[in-house]
This record gives sequence, C-alpha cells and structure tokens, in this order.
Amino acid sequence: MEISTDSFSYIVDNLYDGLYVVDNDRTITYWNKAAERISGFSAEEVVGRKCSDNILTHVDAEGESLCLGNCPLAKGIQDGAPREAEVYMHHKDGHRVPVSCRFGVMRGADGKIMGGVELFTDITGREAREIKIKELEKMAMLDRLTQLPNRNFIDKQIERRFEELRLHGIPFGVLFMDIDHFKKFNDTYGHDVGDLVLKFVAKTMTGSTRSSDVFGRWGGEEFIGILLNLTREDLEILANRVRFLIQDSYIIHGDQKLNVTISIGATLAKAEDTTESLLKRADELLYQSKSDGRNRVTVG
Ligand code: GH3
Ligand code: MG
Ligand code: MG
Repeated sequence: MEISTDSFSYIVDNLYDGLYVVDNDRTITYWNKAAERISGFSAEEVVGRKCSDNILTHVDAEGESLCLGNCPLAKGIQDGAPREAEVYMHHKDGHRVPVSCRFGVMRGADGKIMGGVELFTDITGREAREIKIKELEKMAMLDRLTQLPNRNFIDKQIERRFEELRLHGIPFGVLFMDIDHFKKFNDTYGHDVGDLVLKFVAKTMTGSTRSSDVFGRWGGEEFIGILLNLTREDLEILANRVRFLIQDSYIIHGDQKLNVTISIGATLAKAEDTTESLLKRADELLYQSKSDGRNRVTVG
C-alpha cells in the first residue's frame, strides 16, 4: 500500500507530537500544528527562520543552551546519527516547557542528508506525576508495587476532602474497588503474574479519570478512588468507566490474554460522615456488588 502525499501530510500535521523540519542550514521549513500548540509559536512565525536564531532556545536541566554549539540537530546533520534528549523549550509566553525530543535526519533519493527532523512530546504532566511519586516516597506514602498512594495517604486525603466539604460545600465521592476472584487468578497463573495485574489495574485506574481524582492501594487487591466535585450520576458514570476500562485491559501471558474484572462500591460523602462511616458504607456497597455477581457497580 502506498500512502498519498496528501494523506501523509494530513497525518504529520495532526500528530499529537510536535514535529519540525530544518534544512542543512537549520532553517525551519516545516512546523506542524502540535508544535504550534506546545510552543505557542505559529508556523508563520517560525518557518523561514533558523532554529539557531535562538527562538526556541532549548536548554537542558542544568540551564545549558543546546542551540549554541551543542545542537543535536546540527550534530545529526553532520553525522547522520539519531539522537534523543529531554530539554526545556522556550514557550512564546515566556515559560519553559519540558519536552522529550527525538532528532533524526532526512535524506534525498541519493542518500545525501537534506536536513534534520525533531519530534517532541510535551512531558509537563509526566514531570508532575514523577515529582508526586518522589514526594510520596519521601513521606512513606507510596505503595511500591503499584506506584500508587498507599492507605496512609488515602486516609489523610479523605480527611482533607471532608474539610473542603464542610467548609466550602465541595462534594466528593469514593470508590471502593476489589478485584474479582483474584485468589483463583493467583492460584492459576502465579503470584508474579498477579503482581503484573495489580500494576496494570493501578495504571488503568489513574488513566481513567480526571487529574483531580486520586486513586490509592488500600491493601492486597483493594483500591480506593477519591473523586472530586461531582454528583451521584457522575460518580456512577466514572465508576463504570473504571470498571469497563479494567475489564478491557489485559496482559499477554504465553499465548493467552489475561484480564480481570473489579467490583465497586460507590458513595458520595455526607457532611455528617466520618472517614470510617464513609468507607464502611462504600465497603458494604462493594460487598453488595460481589454478592450480586461481581463485575458491577453499586451506588448508595
Ligand atoms: P472476591 O471476588 O470475593 O474478591 O474473591 P478474591 O479471590 O479476590 O478474594 P480474596 O480476598 O479471597 O483473595 C484476595 C487475593 O488477593 C488473595 C491474595 O493472594 C491476593 N493478593 C493480595 N495481595 C496481593 C499481592 O500483592 N500480589 C498478588 N499477586 N496477589 C495478592
Ligand atoms: Mg479483597
Ligand atoms: Mg477480591
């Protein structure tokens, strides 16, 4: 199959990653839409200018400029080798954007280098997550296996949510989640495979909802989600989203696809609740989901 030039430029233009192309003089000849979004500079503003003019001024974590003397694109154009770097790009509004970059070269039909390409991903969210994980680790509030906050952190977080509920009326809800028949899973596939499942279940949870929501490992194969600023209907929708996403996640083990399901108890906090009464209610609702057949949400 051959892709038409039109389709190809459509794909490149709509990549989630920023992409730009320079010729051998490092004059920018192409700048896609994601590059505009990540850097704040439009194609009009940068195409035709040299990246060595210092408009994008990549610096590394030590504040060293990559544009002056140490440019990976310039080096690539010289030796043809691909490179990678994590750098901070200058945004038009003045701030620095952490980006993960891959640099490559473009060659003509004769094999001669015609210029360089930089593909870059905004890793702002990743940095924030990594910092959060490091902080939790320092405070002994991280579950090592899943890299989720542990029970201690979840407890404290619920206390804080209660303060906000009582002082400012900001609603929150909790999801009490438990993997179905996990003992049988471990017995069948082994504890190590079970651990892999716990990891992907944890990742799916954190990826399934909004950034203000917090998921933690309560213990064993039990997890708690704290969801902010929502109605009972929202809570049910979000709980089911987590449930569906986990049901549809899997790992490949030998020639088998392995997946698990979870049961959930979901409830909104009331001003008169305590952490204990809230979690007890959520746990009872979870138990209801189990006795009703598992892989379901019970809201109460
Ligand atoms: P139910 O659907 O009623 O929840 O059944 P279940 O088998 O999941 O429930 P049970 O509480 O009897 O078993 C929980 C199992 O979770 C037992 C234990 O082997 C497993 N488990 C707990 N912590 C870990 C862990 O860190 N790693 C692995 N691999 N398994 C764990
Ligand atoms: Mg359990
Ligand atoms: Mg279980």
